[in-house]
Amino acid sequence: MASNMNKRKRSDDREHEPPSTGILSRTCHCVSERCSEGQCTIFSDFPVDLRNRLFSAIMTSFLDTGPPLHFLGIGPVSITTLSIDNCNGEEPYAFCDAYCSVSRQEKRYLLAELFEMGIDILINYVKSEEIPRSKKERIVLSKLLHFLKNSEEKGETDPLQNLDKLEDQTEINIVLANHLFGKLSSTPDFLMDIQGKQKGDSCPCLSPMCKVTGSFGDTSVGNDQVWHGNLDIIVKNDLAIQSPKEAESQGVKSPVEVKKGGKCLQKNPQLIAETIVFSFLQKQKHPESNHYMFPCIGILDTEMVFYFYDSEHDVLLESNRISLLTPDSNISIVAVVSAWLVVNYRFLCSGLADILKPEKASFFSKVKSKLSVYQNQLRLGKVRSAEQRFEKTNKFPLIIGPVADRLKEKVDL
Ligand SMILES: [Zn+2]
Ligand SMILES: [Zn+2]
Repeated sequence: MASNMNKRKRSDDREHEPPSTGILSRTCHCVSERCSEGQCTIFSDFPVDLRNRLFSAIMTSFLDTGPPLHFLGIGPVSITTLSIDNCNGEEPYAFCDAYCSVSRQEKRYLLAELFEMGIDILINYVKSEEIPRSKKERIVLSKLLHFLKNSEEKGETDPLQNLDKLEDQTEINIVLANHLFGKLSSTPDFLMDIQGKQKGDSCPCLSPMCKVTGSFGDTSVGNDQVWHGNLDIIVKNDLAIQSPKEAESQGVKSPVEVKKGGKCLQKNPQLIAETIVFSFLQKQKHPESNHYMFPCIGILDTEMVFYFYDSEHDVLLESNRISLLTPDSNISIVAVVSAWLVVNYRFLCSGLADILKPEKASFFSKVKSKLSVYQNQLRLGKVRSAEQRFEKTNKFPLIIGPVADRLKEKVDL
């Protein structure tokens, strides 16, 4: 852990960098009109009672130092490692037909184990009002504080409090992308599966003038020799958000899966396949990363689960289910902070903690013959669909066997 912290570049010279590239050149995307680049007032405007609530949520849910407050949806956010017993990752299956049976390690860790950088920034602010010294971290923290303050001010008119009034999962996902993940992210860009496009660019939330800040397009990832398919939402090219689709070829379902209409957020083969593919893809695209721990967010109704896969150490993690709403239908501060950490993992994730490195997923050994495809030949966009795979089998010669032959003769007579 100490070595991860040391990787963190917090030098003062960052303050004097010219605002020329990427995130540094962007103005504050917060709603407050008083905020502009470098002049964000949220750190001093953030209400004290909200800061206290944030503090107790961090203590309870991320450090496990207080009794869980279930009536507020506050309990520890934990992760557990998964190991793969069997999977069809060596075959050309689409995500919705991915098979992957996994076993859970019978112990949990706090999500904080992966987010030392993020939690550290939060504690420094809520405990001693310390503002991050690097501009990048200031912008990321300001996103969370603005979000919490705005959602408090909106109260019942917040689209997130009305998720249960939406028609289907596609609408819920678009509203979540537009009003939660996009708002918490350092940039509001996200790409949604074109197949989910329903009402042009308008947001399905109840406010009539609301537009989505993302766009619809080709969200296919993978390689048609292995697991591949379309993702629901990709935030800034580096985070996948997905709702499990009805699997077509699964065996006996557990009572929980039956209750959820055959879908389940945890130990979900489709979400695991997508997490693994997306993680290998990110490693391919960003070999310069400090670590290769990449997340994927699974959404079902108004609950989410985080998956993480590290394709360098072959470690797969799953979080507990986190409800976006508290039992009295308010937005859960724990869900917001968790989502903020994961959406901004590039800035806030410290990588795989040493304690988790020995807990292998065994994916490498399960896909031995295709491992190099995962490591070197994945792509984002223009990945051929499963239907084309079936066309291939249609090209095989068609044999007329004795039964068909007899039946044909009968017709001929
Ligand atoms: Zn601001
Ligand atoms: Zn909206």
